[in-house]
Amino acid sequence: MAQARNSDYEFDLFTIGAGSGGVAGSRRAASYGAKVGICEDSRVGGTCVIRGCVPKKLLVYGAHVADDIADAKGYGWDIPQATFDWPTLIRAKNREIDRLNGIYLKMLADAGVTLIEGRGRLVDAHTVDIGGRKVTAERILIATGGYPTLPDTPGIKHAITSNEALELAELPKRIVIVGAGYIAVEFAGIFQALGADVTLVVRRDIPLRGFDQDVRAHLAEELTGRGMHILSGTLVERIEKVSGGLEVRLNNGQVLPCDQILYATGRAPNTSTLGLAEAGVKTDENGAVLVDEWSVTSVPNIYAVGDVTNKHNLTPVAIAEARALVETLYNGNPTSFDPSNIPTAVFSQPPVATVGLSEQQAREAGKQVDIYRSKFRPMRNTLSGRQEKTLMKLVVDRDSDRVLGCHMVGPDAAEIMQGLAIALQCGATKRQFDRTVGIHPTAAEEFVTMRDKVGD
Ligand code: NDP
Repeated sequence: MAQARNSDYEFDLFTIGAGSGGVAGSRRAASYGAKVGICEDSRVGGTCVIRGCVPKKLLVYGAHVADDIADAKGYGWDIPQATFDWPTLIRAKNREIDRLNGIYLKMLADAGVTLIEGRGRLVDAHTVDIGGRKVTAERILIATGGYPTLPDTPGIKHAITSNEALELAELPKRIVIVGAGYIAVEFAGIFQALGADVTLVVRRDIPLRGFDQDVRAHLAEELTGRGMHILSGTLVERIEKVSGGLEVRLNNGQVLPCDQILYATGRAPNTSTLGLAEAGVKTDENGAVLVDEWSVTSVPNIYAVGDVTNKHNLTPVAIAEARALVETLYNGNPTSFDPSNIPTAVFSQPPVATVGLSEQQAREAGKQVDIYRSKFRPMRNTLSGRQEKTLMKLVVDRDSDRVLGCHMVGPDAAEIMQGLAIALQCGATKRQFDRTVGIHPTAAEEFVTMRDKVGD
C-alpha cells in the first residue's frame, strides 16, 4: 500500500548503510511503493555477508572437516595423510562472498532501490551528503552497523581483528586470541581445528560471560580437551615484534611467542562520521544511536536499526527491526520488534546454542526454577572414539511449568535450537515437551526425554 509521495524530497526513504538491516528495510519499503535510495561506502551486504557471519561460517564448515577426517578411522575409512591448504579455503570463501555480494546488488536493483556508492553523512534532518552529492529524503534510516574496537595496549598495531583474520595470507602456526565473547571463541575454534596452536587470553574466568554457567563451564572443558590453552584472569601488557613473529607479554609475567594476535574485545557502533549531532540525533556514551521501541531516534523522521543501536547485535534482529519499521511506515501496519526469546548460537567447536533465560537470569528475576540437565556422549562419538560430550539443559518455571530457557553445547546445537525457539515463543510447558515424541536416534530427542530434575 503506497502512501502519497511528498515531492519536496528526492526520496521517500534514504538508507545509510547497505548491510542486513539497511538492505532488508529498503527493499521492503520499495515493495510498498516508496521511492528508496541507499548508500554504502564498502561492499553491499555489510558485516554479516562480507566480513562476519557468512565468511566465518564457511570457515567453520572448513574446520569441521578436520573432525570428520579424525573420526573417519573408527567408521572404517582409511584416509591417507590429509593436508590442508588455507589459501585455497580463503579463495573459495571469497568467491562465495563475491557471489552473495552480486545477489545483494541484484536484489536492490530488482527492487528499484537506487544505490549510491560512498559514505553518507547527515547534513540536516532531511539531507544526506555522499561524497559531495547531496540527496534529500522525507525519512532517513541509519543502518551503519559497527566495527571491531581495539584497546590502547602498547604494540596494538601488530594485532589483527576479525576483519583481517578472514583474509590472512597464511594460516598462523601459533595464534593468541584476546577476548572471550562470540568472536573470540568462534575464531579460536576455526584456527585450532585447522592446526594452529591457539591461546585464548581471558580477562575474567571462562568464556561467554552472560551465557548459562553450565554452558560456559562445559564449553571451557571441551575447548581445553581439544588442546586449546585458556589463560583466565589474564591481560595483555604489551605486544612486540621480534624476529620470527610476535611476543605477547602478559600481566602475570608470561611471554607468549606467536605469529598472530587477534583481538576480539568487542565492537562499537559506526556513528563517528555520520553527522548525527548536526541533524540532532542523540547517541549514548558509546556512540550508539538512541531509539524507541519503534526504531525512531530523537529526530522524528530519522530511524535506526541493527548494530548501530547496540541492543541485540545479531543479523536477524536488524532485519526484523527494519521490516517492522517499514510495516509501520509504509504498510499502515504498526509493528514493533519483540525482543523476547531471541535464539542465538556461538559457532565454536563444539557449538553452543541457546534461547530464553539462563538459570542465573531466571533466578535473578525471582523465579523458582526446576533444572533439567543431561550430559551424554552422542552416538556419533561412539565408533569414532571421540570423548567429547554434549550438554543439554532446560530451565523451567516451577509455578507455571513454562520452559524459560533451553541451552545446548554439542554438534548441531544451532540447528536444534531454532525449533525449540518456536516452542518457547509459543509459551511451551515442560509437560508439552514431555508429550512430544522424540525422533530416534538423535541427540535432539534428549530435549523431550529429560525426566529427572537436578536437585536444588
Ligand atoms: P563481545 O562483546 O561478545 O565480547 C567481547 C569480549 O572481549 C568479552 O569476553 C570481554 O570480556 C572481552 N574484552 C573486552 N575488552 C577487553 C580488554 N580490554 N581486554 C581483554 N578482554 C576484553 O564481543 P565480540 O567482539 O565477540 O562480538 C560482538 C558482537 O557481535 C556480539 O555481542 C554478538 O552480538 C555479535 N556476534 C554474533 C555472532 C553470532 O551470532 N554467532 C558471531 C559474532 C559476533 P568481559 O566478558 O570480561 O567483558
